[in-house]
This record gives sequence, structure tokens and C-alpha cells, in this order.
Amino acid sequence: MESWIRCWECGLEVDDPYADSCPSCGGLLTLETDLEQLKSLHPYDLRRRPIGVWRYSKFLPVSEEKAVTLKEGGTPLYDCRCLAGIVGLKRILVKYEGANPTGSFKDRGMTVGVTRAIEIGAKVVGCASTGNTSASLAAYAAKAGLDCAVILPAGNVAAGKLAQAVFFGAKVISIEGNFDDALRIVRQLAADGHLYLLNSINPYRPEGQKTVAFEIMDQLDYRMPDRIFLPVGNAGNIWSVYKAFQELISIGWIERMPKLVGVQAHGSRPIVKAFAQGRTDFEPVEKPETVATAIRIGNPVSGRKALKAIYDSGGRALDVTDGEILDAQRILGRAEGVGVEPASAASIAGVMKMSQMGELSKDERVVCICTGNVLKDPDVVMRSFGKVEKVRAEVDAVRKLITG
Ligand SMILES: *Cc1c(COP(=O)(O)O)cnc(C)c1O
Ligand SMILES: [Zn+2]
Repeated sequence: MESWIRCWECGLEVDDPYADSCPSCGGLLTLETDLEQLKSLHPYDLRRRPIGVWRYSKFLPVSEEKAVTLKEGGTPLYDCRCLAGIVGLKRILVKYEGANPTGSFKDRGMTVGVTRAIEIGAKVVGCASTGNTSASLAAYAAKAGLDCAVILPAGNVAAGKLAQAVFFGAKVISIEGNFDDALRIVRQLAADGHLYLLNSINPYRPEGQKTVAFEIMDQLDYRMPDRIFLPVGNAGNIWSVYKAFQELISIGWIERMPKLVGVQAHGSRPIVKAFAQGRTDFEPVEKPETVATAIRIGNPVSGRKALKAIYDSGGRALDVTDGEILDAQRILGRAEGVGVEPASAASIAGVMKMSQMGELSKDERVVCICTGNVLKDPDVVMRSFGKVEKVRAEVDAVRKLITG
């Protein structure tokens, strides 16, 4: 579809395909796509294609002919009855993004972002990452035959994610600093022309990530959920979900949007603090800390967009402790057989907390977006829930443990 890049703050149309911010005001960029021809379609018309990111290609600002795809999206929407019972709600649906090709929702953005890199003739792609962005970019760069460099904060990347980036052949560079430092460095390298930046500040990434919302609506036969909970780190994803609903409204496929609830970890909650004060901008958190490394972000790149998404949808920002995150992760695993990494469990912890606070009615239709797979961070599992019994290699010894 025809599309163009525009400054989200001042409205300037931006021509430079490598720009990661507005050349005039420094603001965040966004994409506008001509969705006119979608108005004459019915949502079910798209169902001739398998569910996944590219079912919604008419909403995407790249040409599908050159698509770099690993068949991302099309993830399950689980009806978690047991969890709902524990929380005290009738229904909780879990959109399990851990089922994507590299195990997180980042693949939705990367298939579009790397396709864009090919379209503009980039040879090297790069990102700063708490882990999942680098795992995803490394895989899509491999598929596309592009060189890839990823910059990671030393000591704070989960083992599974690091292994993926190394495995797919990216140049993996660890810096003594946090994510915010890594992003500052890679943005400078991109500005100097050394690489095409594929962090979520790149407006093509959110375009792919919109599809998680399209899929949820598709899977619910377009019956609107009341609330969607999702973890917020750099806030690209909550913005993407909001943008998707806005677009569906603009073409008349839906009339209103669900309330978006952005969940942050207590030690890393700049958006929650801003929301509590009713502000549309935020103060960065100097030293963010949380077990949920994927949302250990002090200075969220799309933080202002997140606040707009939250206010406009009538939602809220909410923080949960590391203890609440780990409890939610365990409960989801043990009650439903669904394995997610800590950041993803923040959305479940958010529902539990709001329910406890008496702010959810029992009949609400709640969707939690669970962003990444449990295998991403095996160390947290072994540290928090791990118990392996060791005995002699004898039937008696083993039986004693089983029949206990
Ligand atoms: C990237 C990521 C997040 C945070 O998403 P943002 O778009 O940065 O807010 C949450 N959970 C997981 C598993 C992630 O990989
Ligand atoms: Zn501008």
C-alpha cells in the first residue's frame, strides 16, 4: 500500500529512509498508510490467507513481493479457564507470542523491518537489545543474507536470547552499560551511516507489531474484548496495538477500542509514574531494575506514544513487583501449561493485581498479551522454581521420591 513517514510530533513528512527521528524537531516518527481500499472489504475477506502477519499485508507499508518471512504470527489465543478461576474472572484469554519463530512478538516487527531494509538496499542491520530484539533481528538478517550487529548490556541478557543471536551469526557486542546506553551508541552508528537501525524507534517495526491486535480481533470473530493487558518496556508494542485499533476504526471495521493496560515492573516504571500524575511526558528512571529483563528500560523510546495510547483508550498504567511477576509466571505455567518469560508474565500479574484491587468486573473479557517464551530465560526458572531431585541409580531410591 502507498505509505509515507511522518513526524508524530510536528507532522512533517520525512523523506530520508534512514532517519530515526524528525530532522526538524527531533520527534518520534510514525507511518501513514492509505487504507482507503480496505473500506470496501469485510474483515473476513482476509481469511482466504492463513492467519499470520502477512494476512494483513494491506495494512503494511512494505511490498510483500520482497518479504523476508519466517511465517511469524498466527499465534494461539488460549482460553485460560483455570487461570480465570484463580483470578476470579469469567474469562482470561492469553495471546501466546512465545509461539513465534524466535519465541517473541519481536518477529512481527522484524519481518516488516527487515523487508524494508531490503527495499532500501541496506547491507548491514543493527540494534540495541535487552535480548529478544537481537535474537529476532539475527534470524531475519540470516534469512535475508544481511550482516547484523547487536549491542547488548553486559550481564543482563537472558541466556536463551544471547544464544540465539550468537547462533544466527550476528556480531554480538556486549557493553558495560544498560540498554539505554546501548541504544544511544547504535543510534549514533546508524546516523553515521554504518547500519540500518531496527530498534522499535524505527517506524516500520510497530507496523508489523500491529498484527497482534488484528489477530486477536480475527480470533474473537471481531467481538471486542474489554481490556488488553501488555507489558511495557520501550513501549513500541502498546503503541502498535493502539495504532492497529485506530486503523480498524478508521476503515469502519470496529467502532471503539478496548482499554489498554500497560504493565511495568516496579523498579522500572517511568510510564506508571507519569500516568499517576496525569502527564503526557515522563521522567526517565536512572537505574531500572527488575527480574523481567525485557522490560528493564528506564527511558522508553516510545514512552510518549504509550501515554497517548493509554489515555486515548481509557486504559491505565500499572506496576507490579518482581515477586508478583514470578508468581504470575508460575501460576500460568502450572495452571495452564503455558510457559512465558518474566516480562510476559507482567501482563498476567497486572490482571491479578487489578482484580485484587477490585477494579475489574467479573464479566469482563480480558486479553493478556504474553510476549515471550519461557525458554528465553532458563536461569530465572531454575533460580525461582527449580527443584531437581538427585538420588542413587536404584529403583528403590527413585520410588521413594515418587510415592514420597
Ligand atoms: C520487547 C519485549 C517487551 C517490551 O516491549 P516494548 O515494545 O519494548 O514495550 C516485553 N516482553 C518481551 C518478552 C519483549 O521481548
Ligand atoms: Zn517533527
